[in-house]
This record gives sequence, C-alpha cells and structure tokens, in this order.
Amino acid sequence: MEQGELVPEARGQVVPVLLPYPFAGPFDYRVPAGMVVAPGDIVMVPLNRRIEYGVVWDGPPDGTVGDNRLRPISGPAEAAPMRQDIRQLVDWIAAYTVSLPGEVLAMALRVPAVQPETAPVGWRRAEALPEARMTEQRRRVLEVLGERLLAGPALAAEAGVSSTLLRGMADAGLIVPVQLAVAPPFRRPDPEHPRPELSEDQEAAAAELRAAVQARGFSVTLLEGVTGSGKTEVYLEAIAECLRQGRQCLILLPEIALSSQWLERFERRFGVAPAVLHSDLGSRTRRITWREVARGAAPVVVGARSALFLPFPDLGLVIIDEEHETAFKQEDGVVYHARDMAVVRARLCSAPAVLVSATPSLETVANAEAGRYRRLHLPSRFGGASLPDIALIDLRQTPPERGKFLAPPLVDAINATFARGEQAMLFLNRRGYAPLTLCRTCGHRMQCPNCTAWLVEHRARRILQCHHCGHTIPIPPECPECKAPHSLTAVGPGVERITEEARATFPEARLLVMASDTLTGPQAAADAAHAIEDRQVDLIIGTQIVAKGWHFPHLTLVGAVDADLGLAGGDLRAAERTVQLLHQVAGRAGRADAPGRVLLQTFSPEHKVMQALLSGDLESFRENEAAERRPGNWPPYGRLAALVVSADSAEAADIAARDLGRAAPAGEGILVLGPAPAPLAILRGRHRRRLLLKARRDVAVQPLIRDWLAQVPTGRGVKVEIDIDPVSFL
Ligand code: ADP
Ligand code: ZN
Repeated sequence: MEQGELVPEARGQVVPVLLPYPFAGPFDYRVPAGMVVAPGDIVMVPLNRRIEYGVVWDGPPDGTVGDNRLRPISGPAEAAPMRQDIRQLVDWIAAYTVSLPGEVLAMALRVPAVQPETAPVGWRRAEALPEARMTEQRRRVLEVLGERLLAGPALAAEAGVSSTLLRGMADAGLIVPVQLAVAPPFRRPDPEHPRPELSEDQEAAAAELRAAVQARGFSVTLLEGVTGSGKTEVYLEAIAECLRQGRQCLILLPEIALSSQWLERFERRFGVAPAVLHSDLGSRTRRITWREVARGAAPVVVGARSALFLPFPDLGLVIIDEEHETAFKQEDGVVYHARDMAVVRARLCSAPAVLVSATPSLETVANAEAGRYRRLHLPSRFGGASLPDIALIDLRQTPPERGKFLAPPLVDAINATFARGEQAMLFLNRRGYAPLTLCRTCGHRMQCPNCTAWLVEHRARRILQCHHCGHTIPIPPECPECKAPHSLTAVGPGVERITEEARATFPEARLLVMASDTLTGPQAAADAAHAIEDRQVDLIIGTQIVAKGWHFPHLTLVGAVDADLGLAGGDLRAAERTVQLLHQVAGRAGRADAPGRVLLQTFSPEHKVMQALLSGDLESFRENEAAERRPGNWPPYGRLAALVVSADSAEAADIAARDLGRAAPAGEGILVLGPAPAPLAILRGRHRRRLLLKARRDVAVQPLIRDWLAQVPTGRGVKVEIDIDPVSFL
C-alpha cells in the first residue's frame, strides 16, 4: 500500500470543524464510531484541555495533522444544525473583510443559542418544612409565598431579599423550585389588518415591492423619497406580502433601541408587535428569539446588525431602513458593513432586499445607476405636507452674544414657535458640556492620557471624560500644569451647555434632552417620544439621535447649532455625511399640517453643503460629489481598504508601518497611500499608523491584501487591522 493512502474503515471519518475563535481555518477531528455528522452540525470538540462548541464545516478535511494525532469529536450539541446559507455567509464575510472565519462564526454562533434552553424557575414552600435556621428574611419569604407559586425575581422583590438568599433557602429545603411555562412564541402579524389607503405614488411603489416579494428571487431595490413621504408605509406593504406568502422577514434599523415609534407603528399596521433583537436585550430573550426564528415561529424580526446571522429557515424579504447610516458599519472585531452583508444574505437566500433612505449613499445610488439595483422614488411628502423651509444664519453677520451659542435670529424664531404653541428642536452633535477645557493662565489643554483627544466636560456629573476610551477624572480645582486655581475654562458647546443656555434664554419652556447618555434604553426613548407627542415638551435638545426617523407632528422649528461641525477633518465623505445628517434632522420639522422651518447656524454659508441644503437639490449635490470622486477612483467608483497598524510604542508602530509600506502591492490601477500617523495617533494607549489601498473597481483587493500581509511578519504586540470599504478614517 502506498504511504498516505486512506483506508476509511480503519481510520474513521475525519471532518473539518470550525471553532468560534480567531484561528486561520477549521481543525480536523475524527468522528467517533457510531456517530454520524454532516456539515452544519454543532458538535462539542476538545481544544487544548477544554471542550468547545464548533460547527462541522463544508469541504474536505485539511489533512495536514497526522492521523494518530487527530482527536475525536466529544459528542453532538443539543442544538439545531447551522444552516448552509449561514455557513456560506460566514465564509463570505470572512473572505470579503479579510477576517478569520472563526471570528465571523463567533457572531453567528451566539453561545446562548447553542446552550440548551433553561426554563425559568419559580418557587413554592416545601410541603413539610425541615429543621433549618430561621432568620427574619427567611420567615418573610415563606410568608410572602404562602400557598403561591412565584417567579424568582418577583419573590425576591416582594420579600425584599436577594436571589442568593433564595438559593440558600432552597439548599436548606425550605423552598422548592418549580419550572415555569416558557414565554409564549411570537404572534403572527396580520397582513389584512386595516391599513391606511396609499396615495397613488405610494401604491405604485408598493406594487413593485410586492411583485419583488412574489418573485421569490434575489433582487435589490432602492426605495428613495423625501422625509415624510411614506417610505415606511410603503415597505410595510412589502412585509404584508411576505406574510401572505407565509415567509419570514428581516428588517434592519440602525438604532433599534431607540425605535419605539417604529415598533408602535408596526403594531398598528399588523395588530401585533414584531420580534426584536439587539444587544440591549437580556441573553434569555435573545435566546428565545433565536430559537423561535429557527423554528420559523417568528415571522418578522426587526433588529440591529447582529440580526443578520439569525437562522431564518424561510427568509422572504430583507429591508434595510436608513441605509445611508454609518451605524451599520461595525468598527471593532470583524469590521463589516451590515447593509452590504444584508444584501449578501438576501442573495444567499434568494430573497429580495430593499434599501430605504431619504438621503441614499453614493454607493447605493451608483449601484442603482449601474443597473444593479432597481430604484423607486416617492417625490413628495404624504398628505400635501410641505418640505420644511431651510434658511442659513451667517454667524459672522449675526453672532450670538459673548459666551453664548444661539444667534439672535434663532432665539427669535424659537420664541415665535413657542408663541404659536408649537415645538422646537436644537441639534448639536456633541455630548457633554464642552469639548475642550483649557487653562486661562498657561494655555494647558486637558487631554486624555491614553488617546490623542481632549477630555470632554460633563458638568452635571462633575467629570472630564474621554469619548474614545472612557477615561474619566473629576474636574480638577486647579490647572494640573501651572497650578493656577479656578483657571480652567470650558471652550465650545456640547448639548449640556446648550441646555443651560436654553434654560436661561427660555425660562418658561419645558426642555427635554435626547442624547445617548440621557436616553439610556428603549423605555427611556419611548417615554421621551410620548412626552413630545403629548406636548409635554416645548424644546428638544439633542445629538444625532434626533435625526433618526422620529415623527413629531407638533414640531415645526429645527435649529442646527453648529452646522459646520461634521465638515472638519475633511474625510472622503464629510460633505456627503453632513448633508445627510442635516437633511435628516431638518426632516423632523413640519411633518403634519403646520409648515416646518429649519435654521442652520454656519460660518460658511457659501459652502457647497450649505448651498445644497438651502436649495434642497440633493440630486445635484450627489452628482457633484460623484464627479469629484470618479476621476481619482474614489469610492464608489473605486475600491478602498485601510490598514491600521497599532503598537505599544511609537517606534514599533513606525517600524511595522514602514515595513508594510515597503512591501506595498503595486500595479495597474493600484495605489497605496501612507503610512501616516492616524488622526487618532494614540488610542487606548496604542500608537496608530494608517495605510490606504486604493484600487480600480475591477481589482480584487482581498487577495492583494492577503499576499501583502503574508510577506510582512508583524512583530510582537503589533496589530494590523484591516478595514475594507472604510467609513471612518480616524
Ligand atoms: P418616511 O418613512 O418616508 O419618513 P412615513 O412612512 O413615516 O414617511 O410617513 C410620514 C407620516 O405620514 C407618518 O405619520 C405616516 O403615518 C403618514 N402617512 C404616510 N403615508 C400615509 C397614508 N397613505 N395614509 C395615512 N398616513 C400616511
Ligand atoms: Zn482616551
């Protein structure tokens, strides 16, 4: 017999198993006698001295490990196999983002989904109370229980004791656990629930989307329309069609935790709430959702990026609302764009995808223009509501009073709005009180010790905080540099400072602040929305959170405190993003009968961004942007990939970046820029350098990058992060 020839009977079957860890690929394991496995099966395997979950992967085993050193699979896991389309998605994302497949698998194989379901436990009194130490607390628990059966948290709350105490009582035999029934599965939304009549434009768009769902094949449609044109209303009809077909539907929203209005609207349309999935939910809730989706018992799931990996057995429609949102880009771990991967998911499932936006990204518009995506357009606001009237306030001509940030025309407009009994909103995309604290005596700036960033003052909490690494110090009483007392002064505004100014300027007004540190979860967001809808609020002050799809019928004035804010730094999409953000914020005004007005405070009224917003002609703005990007092969007309080198010391980062730079790929249509210090040159104590690979659209950048990295061994403690289609250039 030739050496190396396999004798299957003697050696047993060998299969590749992918583990949810950053290894280069699957490992081979031997299938023990009597066990039958197929790709997708979730199994337990030994890894070093532990037992881990893994997934039997596709393709042949690697075969490089000697047969005598192969370890056997420990056994099957009590979990449904991973579907083929999810395995394909994992491989696809890993290949596209130049990540390790195991890292991607970790996102698709949430451990809670793998672990067997534990039913919630309730407690009742033991039939016969044993001899046991009886404390005051224990007596109270028995009293509270009486003859009842109570869930653990309810019992603990009612008796005012901890769950540890309950467990102690159970160990002593005083109380007995009882399995409670599991939560009811999701109810089926009713597509025939009464719905509003669609306008002619809306009906035409809805018909196209219904047809796409009926076709049961892959397609991508861009649903574009001004804010308030009824895009949501239209795509709800696509969902209804998907439900009629008895298939499942996935909707991705950029900030699902803040989307209470969306959820209420869904419930009005379909009679029941959809399943929701995002990281703020407890692991039990997520596990139930995961299980119900896998059983086909969750017809509609609305979620954040992570919902992309849910195991739908019969996905019939994928919707990505606010497709232009950068929140869809995951920046740490596996760096991927959930919008683009959602389109891939739809393709792997042969389902239609719908991208929705009032301000679509240049990427998506380019795909539509190239004929890859279909394009539907809703030209006007629903019900004859007019688009808000946008005006600029030139801060050079009408500056605010010294030490203030609201210019007189804006203050007057707000007062006039209140006088009409309507609501106003101030937008400033900056949390905290002030972005910079400096010493009036010596000029010292309060800087983060771990990052190239200033510390942001949060006055109410009496702290200075780094918004990149979270480093926090109490506001010092004196300058740490020159020791001058009471010399530190706040420079520039954040929403907290604007709130202080608004309190002084509009003493009668009822204020509400909407920022990620004041709206801390779905309930807080829902409460805020209700307070505004019920007119318990006159003035809303918020960060970019206020730009998200809110519908406040009584809101008629929006003021942007610093419309120029996003233009600094000048990255590729600074202008595009600023237009999108300000247009979205503006779109909150005048959504019902009363007309809306928008005032943008700016130092550069002549800037193309301000002019585009002023004219409302976003189409021309986009065409200009496209014309600027096309010649240089900038996205979406070329490909971009960033390499971020980081190390503990500046020297190590420089050496690694230089070595990478020397080995940079070259060729027709390929250009490598850098290395250069990253704008955030130090982040969490790590020194960062950037290289940027720009290539023509027809160049496959992933193999180039793989070869490139393979040539340059990285030193200890040096990390190279790869960002395909980068959105952030920090
Ligand atoms: P968009 O998603 O384009 O911003 P929405 O779908 O949120 O627009 O619609 C804006 C407002 O108009 C919502 O309050 C919505 O309920 C209402 N609306 C839209 N279309 C209709 C319709 N056909 N009948 C009744 N109300 C509608
Ligand atoms: Zn920091």
